[in-house]
Amino acid sequence: MSRFTGKKALVTGGSRGIGAAIALRLAQEGADVALTYEHSAEKAGEVVGAIAALGRKGFAFAADSADPVAIKGTVDNAAAALGGLDILVNNAGIWRGGPVAEWSLADIDATLAVNVRGVVLASQAAAAHLGEGGRIISIGSCLADRVVEEGATLYAMSKAALIGFTKGLARDLGPRGITVNIVHPGSTDTDMNPAAGPQADAQRAKMAIPRYGKPEDIAGLVAYLASEEARFVTGAGFAIDGGVNT
Ligand code: NDP
Repeated sequence: MSRFTGKKALVTGGSRGIGAAIALRLAQEGADVALTYEHSAEKAGEVVGAIAALGRKGFAFAADSADPVAIKGTVDNAAAALGGLDILVNNAGIWRGGPVAEWSLADIDATLAVNVRGVVLASQAAAAHLGEGGRIISIGSCLADRVVEEGATLYAMSKAALIGFTKGLARDLGPRGITVNIVHPGSTDTDMNPAAGPQADAQRAKMAIPRYGKPEDIAGLVAYLASEEARFVTGAGFAIDGGVNT
């Protein structure tokens, strides 16, 4: 497989979970890949090592998506290290759950800063580097479309905001031949939402296919959207959630 030979990709939050799987999938198919992380330097290094073992160039940048200066600087630094930029995957995200009475201002601000503003700023910075055939793919959530449990309000709000952002940016960048899409995972087995966690059985009970997805499942859909084959797909959202929202 070599759909991404010669392509250069940046994946935010690529040290663990879904982001790490996306980074590796793009590298397996020929891309050079930069990734960001907040805390997990060692794990980010392992992903970069795996990318190098595939014969591709890999780079890791510590960059808090809640920090506007860090985001822009890191997109520019990643493009410089890679020698350009073709694909941005906005994957970094956080979960702050809980009932309405318990939301702190810090929870609200952090959710918006990482899950929304970070995506906006990374996309804006990436747009300056992307050319014809460029790709921006954001990771949303099935909760952006339908909220099937209590305590998910802040997170659902933040992911729903990305739907409007995706549609608008698709219009703005379409004339340049750049596509902008969003992928909405359901329950996916990561540190954020472990398949053996206390909420897992309740999540499985709501799904048409009652099992967790793997990070690699999400990476496969992202790889399609990043590919040349998806050149006519833009402004679109894709559920990959075991049918929880059917
Ligand atoms: P994990 O918590 O397992 O991994 C999160 C990744 O994002 C890590 O690489 C982490 O870096 C990075 N990250 C978190 N906060 C920041 C920050 N402030 N700045 C930079 N990087 C950051 O999450 P998942 O892999 O499960 O989730 C990935 C995406 O998928 C998120 O957007 C999430 O909302 C979404 N999603 C996940 C679902 C699930 O069931 N797992 C379902 C639906 C959507 P570090 O290692 O340094 O902490």
